[in-house]
Amino acid sequence: MSVWWKGVQLDERSAEMMNEVVRLCPGITISPSQGSWSGADASAGTHSGAGAIDLKAVNLSDAHRQEIVLQMRIVGWAAWLRTPAQSDWPYHIHGIAVGCSGLSTAAADQVDDFLSGRNGLASGAPDDGPRDFDHVGITWEEYCGRQRPADKEEDSMNMVIRDRSGSAYLLFGASAASGLYDNSVIEEIERHGLIPVVDMDDKSFNAALKGRDVRAV
Ligand SMILES: [Zn+2]
Repeated sequence: MSVWWKGVQLDERSAEMMNEVVRLCPGITISPSQGSWSGADASAGTHSGAGAIDLKAVNLSDAHRQEIVLQMRIVGWAAWLRTPAQSDWPYHIHGIAVGCSGLSTAAADQVDDFLSGRNGLASGAPDDGPRDFDHVGITWEEYCGRQRPADKEEDSMNMVIRDRSGSAYLLFGASAASGLYDNSVIEEIERHGLIPVVDMDDKSFNAALKGRDVRAV
């Protein structure tokens, strides 16, 4: 299924990937010039399927260009800064989503080039982007899998329980105990006179919930 993302057409997965890039690049203008299922001659067919995007880069500083390429790679794009020295095109950032279904053949070839350290152009020149991150060829699904455990812990751990005598306890986990909980939790403790209970493992946590009135903070 395709969606419109900032005026260009993308598959839904690629749009989510770009939303994450925007989140990771605060203060940097991210604006596409070409999306997917698009046939600009200069692109040699790499945009004719899904999973392809070009971002405008003419008016970006070099630091911002490099930052966007890095963050795109981190979330699962084979991404390069393209320069006027390479072809008859303006500065732009070209991205192909690694592991995307429906890539054109030319786009899939560029992913192979990316994995093997080339720049994806006909010249077969060495990759000119960053490769020192974890790791070249990571997919969006792998990237999301890494973000999830922390979210899960936060979601499941901040709970208020009340025993039969009416005393209320705040249960939270080891990550919260190390200072990762936000001010709203501290305020909740102070406002309601809750008794903090720190770092219960899953078993004792579940046992503690039995027969109690539970609500999330
Ligand atoms: Zn492109």
